Amino acid sequence: MNITDKSAIRDCTSCQMCAAVCPRDAITIRLNEDGFYRPYLDANKCVDCGLCVKVCYKFDSDVKVTTADEENRITVKSAQYRQNELLEKVTSGGVADALAKELVKQGYTCIGVTYNDERHRAEHIVAHTEGETDAFRGSKYIQSYSLDAFKTLVKNAKDTKFALFGLPCHIYAAHKFLTLRRQRENCILIDLFCHGCPSMLVWNKYEQAIKRQVGNKKFDDVQFRSKVRGWGTFYVVVVVEGVKAFISSPKHDEFYSLFFSDHVLNDACSDCKLRSTMAYTDIRLGDFWGKRYLNDRKGVSAVAVTSERGKKAFDAIKDLFKTEDSCMAEVLVKQSYGKVYTPNMELRKRMLDGLRDSHKTLKDVVDLYYSRQGLAMKAKRWLKTINWYLPFDLMRLLKRFV
Ligand SMILES: Cc1cc2nc3c(=O)[nH]c(=O)nc-3n(C[C@H](O)[C@H](O)[C@H](O)COP(=O)(O)OP(=O)(O)OC[C@H]3O[C@@H](n4cnc5c(N)ncnc54)[C@H](O)[C@@H]3O)c2cc1C
Ligand code: SF4
Ligand code: SF4
Ligand code: SF4
Repeated sequence: MNITDKSAIRDCTSCQMCAAVCPRDAITIRLNEDGFYRPYLDANKCVDCGLCVKVCYKFDSDVKVTTADEENRITVKSAQYRQNELLEKVTSGGVADALAKELVKQGYTCIGVTYNDERHRAEHIVAHTEGETDAFRGSKYIQSYSLDAFKTLVKNAKDTKFALFGLPCHIYAAHKFLTLRRQRENCILIDLFCHGCPSMLVWNKYEQAIKRQVGNKKFDDVQFRSKVRGWGTFYVVVVVEGVKAFISSPKHDEFYSLFFSDHVLNDACSDCKLRSTMAYTDIRLGDFWGKRYLNDRKGVSAVAVTSERGKKAFDAIKDLFKTEDSCMAEVLVKQSYGKVYTPNMELRKRMLDGLRDSHKTLKDVVDLYYSRQGLAMKAKRWLKTINWYLPFDLMRLLKRFV
């Protein structure tokens, strides 16, 4: 039995672990026509050992859920880097950044995600020094090419302590593999509250338009969620030759309009069970959305610690942060945890067709989506647009009201 078996009960998350564990290199990873990473099998190489299936979410009829009681026992904190210059470089409060640096110091080999401008994609990479983990800073809101880094983990798990940062689907797959190899105790797995990952067709069109705008120059840095106008906003900033050469439109960013439409996310994201369980991770990080920090402009992390290993790691960095106690119930209010999306499949198909069509712009696809929105959503969007012309305090007040 291998990952092409018809008994799969779910869609592929694009985690790529099946290809990493295959002892015969029978699986390659490529983007499919909808822009999602998928495994492709060379049946001539496969020896039917079944290892790929054992790490794969598609076949797991026993995904562990976290009960309400277990959720109540999870230690949850808010955390914000004390140092402002570090806070500017991270997506929320900087906990992922501090953890990576601390865990490298403790002898872990860290795996996290960087953006590769030459390959136009996000990638998991391996870091052995604190400096190398700088590249992990900032969320890249697209699927990550994780195969090469996962191969390193698979090859060396026996005698290396790994600290892996990724989405719940990456962490689930790593947990499954490490548990099979009885190496889970040696490693620390850190995941993120997760909304989902959009098709790479969205990023490709968006990135090509920026490249044209900046004269096809190399991107020195892509900040997928810059804090240029404060935390809580969704701005893409691209740095070229040391200057901010692109800052996305304050009123509407086409990448994020499609990201939050939920119509062009990976198939598995719609009813993903992994973003709604804490059973596989040691620490889950996210933005501390909700009322408590609504007026914060610098960024606050939500930190949910589920294991003794996770607690030790967080205790080692907590003095770098301003922290407050919280609980899962407070943090989950504004998260996708426990939610199921129900995209209109006919509209999804038309949007993906539009993204593939080289004569169509991203705006055409966004307009198609907006044309199908109901009155309530249109009114919400209109309010969001006028928000940008209001002073910050008034904007926050309106946001709270809406
Ligand atoms: C696709 C995606 C969806 C997300 N959805 C939510 C959400 O719905 N709610 C929420 O609260 N938070 C979400 N996050 C997490 C949030 O954006 C921050 O990453 C988190 O708050 C940690 O920020 P930080 O300031 O602690 O660290 P940072 O220093 O900003 O660290 C970011 C960390 O994310 C990892 N990372 C970056 N890009 C990717 C990627 N593409 N795939 C896997 N790992 C990556 C890096 O390795 C690094 O460890 C999402 C992140 C991603 C990548
Ligand atoms: S979910 Fe992960 S392990 Fe399963 S087929 Fe997809 S990429 Fe492979
Ligand atoms: S069954 Fe074994 S050999 Fe075949 S693809 Fe899966 S891991 Fe590779
Ligand atoms: S919702 Fe997040 S964790 Fe679930 S499959 Fe999508 S990207 Fe992975």
